[in-house]
Amino acid sequence: MSSTDASRSPEPWDETYDLDLEEVWQRVRQRGAKRVLLQFPDGLRDYAPGIAKLLTQRTGAEAVLSGEACYGACDTPSASALHAAGADLLVQFGHSPMPSVPVKDTMFVRAKYRMPIRPAIAKAVGELGLRGKRVGFVTTAQYAHKTDEAIAILHELGVEAKVGKGDLRIALAAQILGCNYTAAKAVEPEVDLFFYLGSGDFHPLGLALETPKDVVVADPEFGTVRLMSGLRDKVLRQRFAAIETAKRRGGKRFALLVSTKAGQFRLRLAEQLQRRIEAKGGEAVIVQIDTFTPDALQYFRHMDAWVNTACPRIATDDYAKWPVPMLTPPELEMVLGERAWEHYVFDEIAGDKKLHSPMFD
Ligand code: SF4
Repeated sequence: MSSTDASRSPEPWDETYDLDLEEVWQRVRQRGAKRVLLQFPDGLRDYAPGIAKLLTQRTGAEAVLSGEACYGACDTPSASALHAAGADLLVQFGHSPMPSVPVKDTMFVRAKYRMPIRPAIAKAVGELGLRGKRVGFVTTAQYAHKTDEAIAILHELGVEAKVGKGDLRIALAAQILGCNYTAAKAVEPEVDLFFYLGSGDFHPLGLALETPKDVVVADPEFGTVRLMSGLRDKVLRQRFAAIETAKRRGGKRFALLVSTKAGQFRLRLAEQLQRRIEAKGGEAVIVQIDTFTPDALQYFRHMDAWVNTACPRIATDDYAKWPVPMLTPPELEMVLGERAWEHYVFDEIAGDKKLHSPMFD
C-alpha cells in the first residue's frame, strides 16, 4: 500500500497493485464531487465494488460503476454518459492519461504492479544472451514506476539500456501503448534490440510489427521470457492474407470505420481515405460506431473490405473474428496499389497534435 494510506487495513488488491487511492479521495474532496463514475479495465474489475465502498466511506460521495468495457485512456465515457450517471467526476483505473486526447472531469489512476522485477530481467539476460547488448527499454503504465530500477539491474548484468520519450499520446518515459511506439522509435537507431518489461503479448507484438529489431519480453508476473519474432511472423502472414482477400473480393468497395471513443476518433483520416478511394474509381462509406462487433457490422458485409481507423489492434488482434477482411489504413494503401508489401507499417495513432473530438471540442 502507498505510504500515505498505511493506516488502513489491507485490501485484496494491495498485494498486487499500488492504486494511489489516497490521491483519489483527495481529488474527490477537493472538487466537492457528490457522485463519481468509476471505470475499470477487465483485470481490475473484481476490485470495483470494494473500491466503490471505500470511496463512499472516505469521501461521502456516491459511487457508480461503469459496466462498459474499458480498453485504455483512449476510451473514456463521453460528457453525456457522465451527465447521465449524474456524476461530477470520472475516475478511470489502470491507465495513464493521454496528453493529446481532450477529456473533461476525468482522473486517471495507474495500477502500479508491486511484483519484484529482478528475477524476470536476470532470466531474460541469461537465457537470451543479452550481456554486452544495447537495448531500448520499454514498458507499460503498470511497470513504468520501475524503469530506473530495471535500468540499474540491466546495467549490473552487463546490458546497456536506453530510454526514449514518446510523443503527446504518451505520459511516461519508456511507456508504449498498443497503438503508439514513439518512445521506442526515439531510441531505435541506437539499440540492437528492444527489452519489454511487462505481461502479455499485446504491447510487445505491436512493437515487433513496428520495428525491424527483435523484441525481448521479460514478464515479472509469470516469470517467463521470450522473443517476439515468431508471433510477429505469424501475424504478418495473417495481414498478408487479409490484404489479398480484399483484392480478390474486388478491392473497390470499402466501409471506413470511425470510432466514437475520444482517443480513437479519426474522422479526418477516414474522410481523406474516402477521397483517395473515390479518386481511384472505388466506393467508400464512412460508418461511425462505438464497439466493433461482427453483428454490428453485418449490414456492410457485401463490402470488399472494412477499414478500421479506430484502435489499430481491432484489425490485427481480432483477425479471426471478422467475416470480411478488416484492414488498417496502411493496408488499404496496399489494396489500392499505393504501397508495396516490403513497406508494410503498423498503424500508429500519433499524439503529435490534439485529436479532434466532437465530444469535447
Ligand atoms: S487505441 Fe487501442 S491500443 Fe491504443 S490505447 Fe486505446 S485500446 Fe490501447
